[in-house]
Amino acid sequence: MCGGVALRRRIPHMQAGTLITPRLAEEAINSRLTCLPIESLPLTQCVGGTLRENIYAERDQPPFDRVSMDGIAIDSEAARQGLRQYRIQATQAAGSPALTLESSGNAIEVMTGAILPMGSDCVVPVEQIDVADGVASLKSTAHITAFRNVHRRGADGRQGALLLESGTLLRAPEIAVVASAGMARVRVSSQPAVMVISTGDELVEPGDPIADYQVRRSNAYAVAATLRKRGFARIGDDHVSDDADMLRERLTLHLTTHEVLVLSGGVSMGKFDLVPKVLLQLGVQEVFHKIAQRPGKPMWFGIGPQGQAVFGLPGNPVSTLVCLIRYVIPAIAAAMGTKREVPERFALASPVNYETPLTYFLPVTIEHDDWGRPWAHPHPTNGSGDFLSLANTNGFVELPPGPNTYPKGFVTSVYRW
Ligand code: AMP
Ligand code: MG
Repeated sequence: MCGGVALRRRIPHMQAGTLITPRLAEEAINSRLTCLPIESLPLTQCVGGTLRENIYAERDQPPFDRVSMDGIAIDSEAARQGLRQYRIQATQAAGSPALTLESSGNAIEVMTGAILPMGSDCVVPVEQIDVADGVASLKSTAHITAFRNVHRRGADGRQGALLLESGTLLRAPEIAVVASAGMARVRVSSQPAVMVISTGDELVEPGDPIADYQVRRSNAYAVAATLRKRGFARIGDDHVSDDADMLRERLTLHLTTHEVLVLSGGVSMGKFDLVPKVLLQLGVQEVFHKIAQRPGKPMWFGIGPQGQAVFGLPGNPVSTLVCLIRYVIPAIAAAMGTKREVPERFALASPVNYETPLTYFLPVTIEHDDWGRPWAHPHPTNGSGDFLSLANTNGFVELPPGPNTYPKGFVTSVYRW
């Protein structure tokens, strides 16, 4: 969650040259995030948003003894004493105030959703009665007990009860709960303005002519698609060549207009990997550079002068996507105050032999066996540049550093694309 000041103390001092683990990287990011502002929005605009206030029940739920079957309402005591025929006195529709049973020999015709008439205490469904000349006769199948087919007032929740906590993600059921609390608007986190910036002289826009030595600017599209799929709508897009002056100029601008910068490329050790140096010049404080992981080891993270979160993702396309999903997406969710989602866990469908002493993010497909059980099937890529083999995978698993052989059935976290 944003504003995790307490967490900051737990990050050990990072010695130069020591790589931090993915878990420490995650904590280092979360502890430095600034909470995104809150805004009040109409309910229709809140789906996918993060609630930033508690929601309490306006009334008991159901708010009255609610008829749950179409039928007749009677006094169960009369039936207990053997009465099988009831004069139908009136009809009680949903949305009308409660009528009163005039005598225990009477019945009131009732509709699902109506308030239970006063003087009655149970409902006999239409299927269990015969009606003739304004008189309802109970069939032998009729079961009469007090409050049968009545959804009792307060059975689901009490007035004033906490229904949803601040930090809850608003999906359809939660939206219904907010509506039931009588609220037309609700306080949610503002959407962050995210600028996606690709860097590199070799990159060419899809649709433009391309030379042998150039490559398509695919990362920017994958990053924007990942963000859009998760409901982030305020996404900018820019491309900057490997030129320090140009980078300085563009990043200066983006830092004034965006809360989150997601850069791809330019964070490794090459002569033209200028991103960390330029960011430092612009007052973006480095929190870490490099994580003990494969792929995505060169990842850089820093905090701008106004608390902007700046992610320098390695340009290799597999690294870019893995780092985006493993770190950037959860960080934006945390800055929105969203409760942390625990990753799904699946078992490996086949053993994985892994020699490198770095956390391993391995692409997988999730497939079901003949008994309907899901398994994570490994789909190793041909290095971190091989994004073609990511197509049709579902995401990646996180495996601890090697050397090790993880057997079939080894259960681990899965992050979906
Ligand atoms: P870099 O991290 O800048 O050294 O880039 C590493 C590799 O990823 C290079 O082969 C780049 O051509 C490639 N790359 C960098 N950015 C992108 C991008 N936006 N789309 C596709 N490939 C990229
Ligand atoms: Mg580059």
